[in-house]
Amino acid sequence: MESKKILIIEDEKSISDIVKFNLTKEGFRADTAYDGQEGLDKALAGDFDLILLDVMLPSIDGFEICRKLREQSAVPIIMLTAKEEEVDKVLGLELGADDYITKPFGLRELIARIKANIRRTALTGNGSQNPANARDFSNLTIDMDRYEVRKDGKPLELTLREFELLKYLAEREDKVFSREQLLEDVWGYEYYGDIRTVDVTVRRLREKLEDDAGDPKYIMTKRGVGYYFRRP
Ligand code: CA
Repeated sequence: MESKKILIIEDEKSISDIVKFNLTKEGFRADTAYDGQEGLDKALAGDFDLILLDVMLPSIDGFEICRKLREQSAVPIIMLTAKEEEVDKVLGLELGADDYITKPFGLRELIARIKANIRRTALTGNGSQNPANARDFSNLTIDMDRYEVRKDGKPLELTLREFELLKYLAEREDKVFSREQLLEDVWGYEYYGDIRTVDVTVRRLREKLEDDAGDPKYIMTKRGVGYYFRRP
């Protein structure tokens, strides 16, 4: 299999160098950009499997790059954040980043995240030729193979992560999962990650899925435990 190509957009050369070195050691190909505009140009021009994106960058910041990239590309993006405020912004804004990691980060953790995000893309990007495996849940249809969700026949625009969370819960109707369990099974982390990520994804999913996100009929909260899927 051809090695995966990663773009590191990071202006701190010491960080960029060590990440590049370790990615190469792990069998990835890595390209670098030290400036926001340069990074955006490279990301749009190159055929990358994943983008590592620092927030504070010269010329264009990481938030803006993420937003611009998302207009044209579904490439997995991991944001490199330095401060808690940046994490809140990544989680709160509809930037479309797939993941984030807070500096200073361990290289083992970073590599694990990169692999998890690439694996997820590989699972969905191969255009399965199987006959549609669609299941109906009241007025919701979830096509498990094609990664499509329709509500009353109209397709919903879900991100990969939102789809995977929905799929996971819907396939296990009425079973309650803790945030930690969802993080492990849907996001694929073993020990890393932030359970707020689960809450944010549930919130976004409800906004797209439910008639009234404040009074959900599909994705239910089990107070003090976690979430479950219910057929209305
Ligand atoms: Ca920086």
